[in-house]
Amino acid sequence: MAHLRFKALDIVNSRTPVYPNHPSMKVSEYYANNVYTVEAMRSTIAADSFKKVMNAIDKGEKIDSEVAEAVAAGMKTWAIAKGCTHYTHWFQPLTGLTAEKHDSFYEPFDEGRAIEKFKGSALVQQEPDASSFPNGGIRSTFEARGYTAWDPSSPAFILENGPTKTLCIPTIFVSYTGEALDYKAPLLKSLVYLDKAATAVCQYFDTDVTKVHATLGIEQEYFLVDRALYYARPDLVMAGRSVFGHIPARGQQLEDHYFGSIPPRVHNFMADFEIELLKLGVPVKTRHNEVAPSQFEVAPIFEEINLAVDHNALMMDVMDKVGEKHGLKVLFHEKPFAGVNGSGKHNNWAIATNTGKNLMGPSSRPKENLIFLTFFVNVIKAVHDHADLLRASIASAANDHRLGANEAPPAIMSVFVGSQMTAVLEELEKNAKVKVDKGDNVYMKLGISKIPAIIMDNTDRNRTSPFAFTGNKFEFRAVGSSANSANAMTVLNMIVAETLAQFKKDVDKQIDKNVKKEVAIINVLRDYTIASKKIRFEGNGYSDEWKNEAAKRGLSNEPTTPRALDFYVTKSALEIFEKSGVMSERELHARHEIMLENYLKKIQIESRVVADLAMNHIVPTATKYQNLLIQNVKGLKDIGLESKETIDTIKEINKHIGSIIKDVDDMTEERKKANAIDEGREKAIAYCDKVKPYFDKIRYAVDKLEMIVDDEDWPLPKFRELLFVR
Ligand code: ADP
Ligand code: MG
Repeated sequence: MAHLRFKALDIVNSRTPVYPNHPSMKVSEYYANNVYTVEAMRSTIAADSFKKVMNAIDKGEKIDSEVAEAVAAGMKTWAIAKGCTHYTHWFQPLTGLTAEKHDSFYEPFDEGRAIEKFKGSALVQQEPDASSFPNGGIRSTFEARGYTAWDPSSPAFILENGPTKTLCIPTIFVSYTGEALDYKAPLLKSLVYLDKAATAVCQYFDTDVTKVHATLGIEQEYFLVDRALYYARPDLVMAGRSVFGHIPARGQQLEDHYFGSIPPRVHNFMADFEIELLKLGVPVKTRHNEVAPSQFEVAPIFEEINLAVDHNALMMDVMDKVGEKHGLKVLFHEKPFAGVNGSGKHNNWAIATNTGKNLMGPSSRPKENLIFLTFFVNVIKAVHDHADLLRASIASAANDHRLGANEAPPAIMSVFVGSQMTAVLEELEKNAKVKVDKGDNVYMKLGISKIPAIIMDNTDRNRTSPFAFTGNKFEFRAVGSSANSANAMTVLNMIVAETLAQFKKDVDKQIDKNVKKEVAIINVLRDYTIASKKIRFEGNGYSDEWKNEAAKRGLSNEPTTPRALDFYVTKSALEIFEKSGVMSERELHARHEIMLENYLKKIQIESRVVADLAMNHIVPTATKYQNLLIQNVKGLKDIGLESKETIDTIKEINKHIGSIIKDVDDMTEERKKANAIDEGREKAIAYCDKVKPYFDKIRYAVDKLEMIVDDEDWPLPKFRELLFVR
């Protein structure tokens, strides 16, 4: 096995640079060239059809078959002119990967002749063989029908794979009976709910606001390892993370990687995938190193949330493919290497109006700041009231490794707002009586007029908070790097909408009692600020003091996925999901089941990988080395020399080998017991509580052996080799 490690290292050392495929034009000339943009649509379909599609996108109006026919024809013309031979419905099933099923445009007719065809019905709806996607019992295999349905609000695009090109149509994925089987459908529904609730509240301030949408900018963290080394680590291949590995002498303690210069090889890779993404209209903007060695980040400019989520899924896919060309493997796992930083997907979220206003951004006009304050306070109240749901929305086996460990936000939900906004909220709280007739003074008194100037140079940053206000948006940092953002964003949209709807009721109640509108708003905001106070935390979220303090405040701290998922199916959660139209009880239960199953499958795989590597790679290697030492001791004895230290080492190896064999045995027993459990939640909990604890125990012994056994014989590429990409 060790020869595989050294062969891989040889490959690494003999790599030559691969340069990006730079188109010989400016970005502005090729940006979104592979997207069926509004402009492309306008120029390929008749004006009245175009208008109807735009209405469908803006107002959710139905698209009739005639319009679908027109769009399909336009799309086909456009795609074939670009060299596409195939089309596919592109969707995001609950496996966490994007899915495609390619169909060819051509159809044979007569003898020996063919024609390119693409009907409206093929655009609007497809029936992939869906029995093998997770469905949580919604579909039994005998009625394994699932449909993908066109989402006109996310434009079609062309995926290039060398010279072959495929037209991809973003779709939702639903069961035969209409239940969502993907991430996108609930997200779209949450946006409808948010639009309704937020627009109603906006009407207090500005009657021109008739539509509201959420915006999202996703910062994506990832690790890069050389592909040859990756393939020499079965744990990375099977589980996406290393289950063994001693922390290298030089980890991240020098803190020299963050914002350091990007290694040339990585730079080539970044430039290359960015070009592909720009062609796809993904507005990638920033790139830099992250804290851990070989950890990086890419962030696009924010977009409408549905598009941003699609673009993130597309981005992960493109990065993976481009990585191959550069001999690199992208690790999206939340914690590929124990002992160094994990990866997240920071979701920068805000709400914007059809009039172009960002509701999370303070304005330079004091009067307008009441609308900002309204939305600001409502978001905090939403997180306070539904912290558990938010926690559930980011729960996964991989994120469990990250939350609360090594420089990552804990599993406790809290909101950071910064000292300036804290001051504003404190002032709001204190002012029991606010007189409105003094005009702008009301806002002055609240400290609201101070916001813009202060916010501009507000460098107040708290990286330890899972949910932070960052000047003109909230940043949800607890989302896992491999997650589909739709999960967390669906919940966030929904709980904010729910809170806004209640806010509207509370304000109207006061207005009905002849309280002046502005006063009523301020009164309710004050109540909400006081009621949600305990969710606000400005200190160090990584500290143990916070855990104690949070417990005192009665905030939940649920570090394990199977238990955090319970929050999805509480009575109140089911009620909100139903009421908001985001998911029915049946869908939610199905989803809950799928997520439990995902969890236990992940732990099951990891457990097998741990056992396999330990027994087939580590123990034999250590035994071989131990035998060598035994020979050595015998030889020394022959010539009359003492060898106490070597004997100690032999004993040490023996101890570790013994503990590995025993722990692997015990773990396998626990796995068998867990497998015998029928009920999904209990089974997942058994994996969590009984199987998973062995990973660290076994790892401890293996990592000790790594430090003892001859480096020449060690089979697995070491952290120092994996983590310093050359
Ligand atoms: P950081 O300092 O955390 O890296 P940046 O200013 O680089 O923050 O922004 C991070 C992300 O936030 C980017 O994707 C950016 O486009 C996004 N962002 C900025 N404004 C908004 C907004 N109003 N709504 C959503 N995302 C936004
Ligand atoms: Mg950020």
